[in-house]
Order: sequence, then structure tokens, then C-alpha cells
Amino acid sequence: MSTGGPSLPQQRTLVTEIPGPESLARLDRKKAHVADGVGTTLPVFVVAAGGGVLVDVDGNSLIDLGSGIAVATVGNAAPGVVQRVVEQVQAFTHTCFMVTPYDGYVDVCEQLAEVTPGDHAKKSALFNSGAEAVENAVKIARVATGRDAVAVFDHAYHGRTNLTMAMTAKNMPYKNGFGPFAGEVYRAPMSYPFRDGLSGEEAAARAIDHLDKQVGADNLACLAIEPIQGEGGFVVPAPGFLPALAAWAADHGILFYADEIQSGFCRTGDWFASEHEGVVPDLLSLAKGIAGGLPLSAVTGRADVMDAVHAGGLGGTYGGNPVACAAGLGALAEMREHDLAARARAIGERMTARLHALQEAHPVIGDVRGRGAMMAIELTTPGTLDPEPARTAAVSAYCHQNGVVTLTCGTWGNVFRFLPPLSISDALLDEAFDVVAEAFAATA
Ligand SMILES: *Cc1c(COP(=O)(O)O)cnc(C)c1O
Repeated sequence: MSTGGPSLPQQRTLVTEIPGPESLARLDRKKAHVADGVGTTLPVFVVAAGGGVLVDVDGNSLIDLGSGIAVATVGNAAPGVVQRVVEQVQAFTHTCFMVTPYDGYVDVCEQLAEVTPGDHAKKSALFNSGAEAVENAVKIARVATGRDAVAVFDHAYHGRTNLTMAMTAKNMPYKNGFGPFAGEVYRAPMSYPFRDGLSGEEAAARAIDHLDKQVGADNLACLAIEPIQGEGGFVVPAPGFLPALAAWAADHGILFYADEIQSGFCRTGDWFASEHEGVVPDLLSLAKGIAGGLPLSAVTGRADVMDAVHAGGLGGTYGGNPVACAAGLGALAEMREHDLAARARAIGERMTARLHALQEAHPVIGDVRGRGAMMAIELTTPGTLDPEPARTAAVSAYCHQNGVVTLTCGTWGNVFRFLPPLSISDALLDEAFDVVAEAFAATA
């Protein structure tokens, strides 16, 4: 058994091609036994991970710029997470909180009330996946308001279950052929400064007019929005957009619901991305970075809103599993003890400098955007807004072959998103961006 965590050698080491022969053999087994619909971005089979590296079955050590999609924010096998998980597994693994409760669940809810925006009374309910949290946020919003309609935005991503597919914007690969979708979901135009050139106030006025005329403010239960969009392309709305929407929602009894599943838990340099614009959501859905890799998600919101639901109306067999809660408490402790929000800001400054330098050299990089350790570049034909997905794929392939795990995203598949674990060293981060720079030069 391999031991991961921060004590792994923090270096990029390639001893075979990527993927190597051992990974290729396992890939054949995957093809034989795993449904084709479950894809892989970079098919190296991992045996250990920690700090800023992933080690594969061939003995290659790759630099991680993805954190398993913004999940391993505190680092893989982070000591505070591992220790609490081991202790919990030895004590008990499951009772079902709805049958016989335990402290870990309540402790997580208590801490979520502390770290989320706003000092009003808050309560939480725990679930397993991000999509499940989104589904429950909508259930709660509907009961609390007595209204049905849900507003979502262009480029939004909220998950792969039936309701959350309806809320997600992009057809391929998330929705194609999987309909019919849930009703009463209405899509409004997003603020996308690189593409629309609108100020936050202008973009908000456009979205509000759209919702007012096509849905009617009085029919809306909630306005669901990612304060920085994830899968949709790390779109950061223009300043003023979120506050204007929140103010309009408040004026019309619409709940402002922030989906911070990707942007939360120190990723953007503060506990939550809503805080950068002083927005205090009525409801939040939380997952990904919450528990150092174990499946845990939450809806946290105004106590009066959360308590609107009848007893027994919320729950699930595994929601807030004790081991996942122990991991969540460990991850929260790591974030506080190591001031990971500050680390995210430092990583963000380092990445921003590298990405601006890269943009000077390669005009195919149309936009550099993001916040903290959630940064992206959008590739377009120079001087236009025409997406460059082929170049994106070529740069990506070069990075992977050279031992750097990069992720793409965006409605047009032309955005690189950089989500390193906050446990990565400056030296590894610099080396990773050396490889990214080489990749742009090699594919020019
Ligand atoms: C990943 C994600 C989800 C879905 O989370 P799952 O755990 O994959 O179900 C929902 N919303 C946002 C913003 C996400 O990034």
C-alpha cells in the first residue's frame, strides 16, 4: 500500500510515457468493466497523492493543477483529514442520522453557520453530492416561498440529476438524450464581461428584465447562481452584477441562492466567493472542497428559510455520513489552522502573473480571469471572440504528456481552469506553469 499526503516527494518525475504501460493495461480493464459513458481526462491510474502531486502505477509523479475538480483543496490525504477519518472509521461507520444521530453531523452544521457569509441565524442539512445539495436547495426554496419557478443563468452548471440537468446550460455531454427535463426552470442571460462588454449593472438589468417579462418576479422561488461559474468557464460576473440581482431578489421575495459548490471553502481567497462583493445569500449549496475528498455536501441558509420544510421532508440514507463529517471537520480545521484563504490569494497572485506573461506571448489567450486559486484562460482566435477548442485540446494534451494535470471547461471547451490544491509548493506551481508555457510554444 502506498502512503500519500504531504510527505510524498514533491517533484515531477516521469519514468514512462504518459500514460505508462501499467496504466494502459488497467485502461483495458476499465474498458471491459466500466460503462463507456464514464469518461477520464487523463488515464493514469493513481496509487498515492498529496501536497501538489499525484503518483501513478508506473511510478510517475505528476503535478496536480486540478484537485480532482476543486475537491482536494486542503490537499490529498491531508493529515487533519486522515487522522479524523481513521478514528471515526474505527468508532462507527454509519447509523443514519435520521435514525440515531451523532455529534459529527451537528458539529459540521455549527461550523458551516460560522464560515458562511452573514451573521444572521443559519441552519444546515447535509447530503452526499453537489447535485443532491442543489436539488434540496430548490426544494427548500419552493416550500419557503410557496412558489415554483427557479431562475438559472447561461453557462450554468448545477449537476447531472434530472432537476440539476434542467438547471445546467450545456447540452453535450451533460444533457444530450437524457430528457425530458424537470419543468419550471428558466434561464436568464449571465454577465460575461469578456464576451458582452456590459457593466455589472447593465448585465443585471438585462437579466432582471428577461426574468420579469418571461417569468414574473412573483412566480420565482429562487435565483440560483454560481458567484463564479465553474464548468461553464470560470466566468466572473462584472462587479455589481451579483449585488444588483441580490437586491432585486430581496425586493420581490425571491431567495438569492448561491451555488458555491466549486467556488467555496477558501478556493477564491476567502471562505466563499459571494463575500468578494459583500453578497449575503439566503441559501448556499456546498460540496467539493468541503471534506478533503470524502463525499459530503450541504445546504446552509437562513434559519427561517431552512425551517420552512416539514419534519421528515429533508434527508437521505447516507446524508452527513459520520466518516464524511469527520473528514469535513478535518478539512475545516486545516483551512483555519493553515489560513488557506491567504494561501489561495498568494497562489492566485503567482498564477495571475504567469498567465498575464503567457498572454503577452500568445495572443490566442483572449482572457485571463478568476480569483485566488480559481483562475482560467479563455482561448480565442486573436482579435475575435471565436473559440479555439482545438488549440485548447492540443495544449492540454502536451501538459498531460509532460506530467501536469490540467483541466478544461467552458461552453465552447476553450477554457483552461487552474485549481491547484492549496497544499502545493511555490516551486511545483512554477514548474507546472513552465510546462504550460512550453505547451503553448510547442503548439503555436
Ligand atoms: C460540481 C458542481 C455541482 C455538482 O456536484 P456533484 O457533486 O458532481 O453532484 C453543482 N454545482 C456546481 C457549481 C458544481 O461545480
